[in-house]
Amino acid sequence: MKQLNFVIDNATGLHARPAKVFVKTAKQFKSDIRVLLGSKKVNAKSLIAVLGLGVKHGGTIEVELDGVDEELAAEALQTAVATGLGEGDHKPEPAAAKSAPSKPAAPTPVAEDKLPKNGLRGVAAAPGLAIGPVFQLRQTAVRIADGFAGVEAEQASLNKALAQGKAALADLCRQLQAHAPDEAAIFEVHQELLTDDDLLEAVQQKIQAQQNAGQAWQTTIEEWANQLAALDDPLLAARAADVRDVGNRILKLLAGDESGEVEWPDHPVVVIAHDLTPSDTATLDPQKVLGFATAVGGPTAHSAIIARALSLPAVVSVGEGLLEIVDGTAVILNGSSGVIQVNPDEAAQKEAKNQLAVAKKQQQAARERAAEPAITLDNHRVEIAANIGGVDDAQNANQSGAEGVGLLRTEFLFLDRATPPSEDEQFQVYRQIAEAMEGKPVIIRTLDIGGDKPLPYVKVQPEDNPFLGERGLRLCLNRPELMREQLRAILRAAGYGSLRIMFPMVADMSEWHAAKTMVDEIRAELDAPEVPVGIMIEIPAAALMADLFAQEVDFFSIGTNDLTQYTLAMDRMHPTLAGKSDGLHPAVLRGAHAAGKWVGVCGELGADPQATPILLGLGVDELSVSVPSIALVKAKIRTLNRAKAQKLAAKALACTTAREVRDLVGVTK
Ligand code: PEP
Ligand code: MG
Repeated sequence: MKQLNFVIDNATGLHARPAKVFVKTAKQFKSDIRVLLGSKKVNAKSLIAVLGLGVKHGGTIEVELDGVDEELAAEALQTAVATGLGEGDHKPEPAAAKSAPSKPAAPTPVAEDKLPKNGLRGVAAAPGLAIGPVFQLRQTAVRIADGFAGVEAEQASLNKALAQGKAALADLCRQLQAHAPDEAAIFEVHQELLTDDDLLEAVQQKIQAQQNAGQAWQTTIEEWANQLAALDDPLLAARAADVRDVGNRILKLLAGDESGEVEWPDHPVVVIAHDLTPSDTATLDPQKVLGFATAVGGPTAHSAIIARALSLPAVVSVGEGLLEIVDGTAVILNGSSGVIQVNPDEAAQKEAKNQLAVAKKQQQAARERAAEPAITLDNHRVEIAANIGGVDDAQNANQSGAEGVGLLRTEFLFLDRATPPSEDEQFQVYRQIAEAMEGKPVIIRTLDIGGDKPLPYVKVQPEDNPFLGERGLRLCLNRPELMREQLRAILRAAGYGSLRIMFPMVADMSEWHAAKTMVDEIRAELDAPEVPVGIMIEIPAAALMADLFAQEVDFFSIGTNDLTQYTLAMDRMHPTLAGKSDGLHPAVLRGAHAAGKWVGVCGELGADPQATPILLGLGVDELSVSVPSIALVKAKIRTLNRAKAQKLAAKALACTTAREVRDLVGVTK
């Protein structure tokens, strides 16, 4: 038997995500693994049990391992804890920390005296207008039947409900992965809860004692949720809501379709509720729901972030007065200003409807022309490509008008697992993506881990500044086997489409030379077709030396997320610097301008409508954006004149602040 002590350094202790990584790591091994804290001793392979320990930041846990692979298990857990249990630099809860891809639109402040008649004020959570009758979503209790069909039959219906629940959660994860990865992670935790041995065993014991599956499930969930709710740590206690949420999902399935089902009106509605769970929000039917408002909650709550990912206007934290609005009452919900106008007069309704119609028309027109090229008024074509993370995204991108993939973030294949994907596994994925894109160019970025994306099986010495540490290409060059396997997989897939290879985080010409040599050697070994090889411009050093790189590389792609972070020395996930860390800062634009050669932009800035004319004017050949932005970016390009954009870009380069650049665009448009 082995015994180890771990100090949990995660900012918020062993809460949902790190606990999930800890438990998943433990589950890879056969040994019996127990976690001890004070007088409590629990199964390390049970997520609920580990959460129930309530381990706080700085807490020390003892881990006992007993079995054939105890040495390996101890080592894996040690690495997982040392690398932050999926939280890199031991970041706090994801929703608060990592808002970059789904930042709430800066709420337009509405002065108190400007609050319209019958207006309610909340906090803007997801932009857009929703006009329609209110429908209050009330939590309805699920009715559990009384009968007992026998141990085997009850166990079988539980297994069926669990399988359906897991499949639905996997769908939700997939749906959210591209736009709200942190929120997708919540549903991964829910999935993990459904495979929790301790939980399932407790339910099984109750079924053996003649409780039916519904009763057994409900009482067990309540017991576990109450145990978590009683913890004196509010963040960990809040996980009780997750247990109840996932518990309810299974209970509904066990009770049959009708029990506890909401009876929706037969027309679209603006939903109001005391609060919405992430599952409630993610399963709102966009055909029936125009937007929603909640009495409690905040703009960084998971439900708000999901609303933004689903393009559903939302206002939160309106107060309990919200729930006094009678079903069927007309409202105008403004998700950008946080105001809800109750019973608006005809003029207000007309104005809001006009605004909505104009925005919808623009979106519709953009979608209708999504498959057409993006050509400026003076006949210059810009390629619009997609940023993707996997095969599903590629299929989606191809159907949404993407003219290629400007960035495949391959790290998604490597995250959240105990061992790296094999060369063959990678080959299959790259091949499927190449095929899904039907010959359109696909830029595959080699593994960009480290920084905020640690892997349990890649050991990195603890670093004070992981974003300035072993990350991206420099990490891979130190682990040539990892890099060689990936390059072999890409080059083997090269015959199935039009693949390109791109290296992330290049700071130095010698790194480029080492990586390019590896590609050449492997290509020769495999007798693979030639593929263009390029680099990302995301470190200021590379931007400053772009003229030298341009003589050797086949293409550049500007990663504005990191280029902004490193140029301005502002953490890209910093919660209070978000407003200042602006990719339209003239220094970032100068870095991007220096690129020359064929150049794409694959950072968030590519989808910012104010940035589009400037990037066009700087001479960018391709904008690579998230799939839902493709049609809109193409539509924007069609409204621009390249010659004018060039003048605008020249002026932008001469500005002194990002604000000046934004004002310039605002005025010139
Ligand atoms: C970037 O840095 O702009 C980029 C596209 O890469 P990532 O966001 O994956 O770091
Ligand atoms: Mg980057």
